[in-house]
Amino acid sequence: MNIVLLGAPGAGKGTQAALLVEEFGTPHISTGDILRAAVKEQSELGLKAKGYMDAGNLVPDELIIDLMRERFQQPDTAKGVILDGFPRTTTQAVALDTMMAELERPLDAALLIDVEPEVIINRLCSRRMCKECGYIGTAADASCPKCGGEMYQRDDDNEATVRNRLDVYATSTSPLIDYYRGCNKLVVVDGDRDPKEVYVDVKAGLGL
Ligand code: AMP
Repeated sequence: MNIVLLGAPGAGKGTQAALLVEEFGTPHISTGDILRAAVKEQSELGLKAKGYMDAGNLVPDELIIDLMRERFQQPDTAKGVILDGFPRTTTQAVALDTMMAELERPLDAALLIDVEPEVIINRLCSRRMCKECGYIGTAADASCPKCGGEMYQRDDDNEATVRNRLDVYATSTSPLIDYYRGCNKLVVVDGDRDPKEVYVDVKAGLGL
């Protein structure tokens, strides 16, 4: 399966991706996770990306497209990919189509996890992640329920940055909904429910 997960920040893309990985073992590629690791390592990419990320703005298309072109060279991607947070602009979507065509691996679907912005603001401001395994939880999790690791709040999960991220999503990323509808690849699920219920619809929508 080669799929794109679409949806506003906090819609549940990472959570649904984790469930798909657990059941199907398909590699999960999150550009946000790759960029956060690069920032932590203070690599050249991380140094370039940090300012954009801290402000909740998009990292320039060229950097992201180069990053993904490299990632697609790794052999694990041959068995399929779950793309989370990429593409985020029409330029990135067109570049992805070109990459997939070159690799002769057509995209099966773009799955939109649909959640209203007001729900997102509350969700993101109370979101916490595990430092060890990346588990996505809430402020109610004193430690990671999966591995016992320490939970932390992402630098960009504060209200001002979240509001900017939602604006950026509305302006730059939401046009991809029509882009994928036009290619007959769009599948929509209601994301404002318990993640396990959403997952039932995700699998049905993807024909899994
Ligand atoms: P995420 O973890 O997907 O919410 O991404 C966190 C941040 O990383 C975003 O707010 C952007 O600054 C940056 N980012 C992640 N993916 C992309 C992308 N495809 N294009 C541009 N910036 C991105």
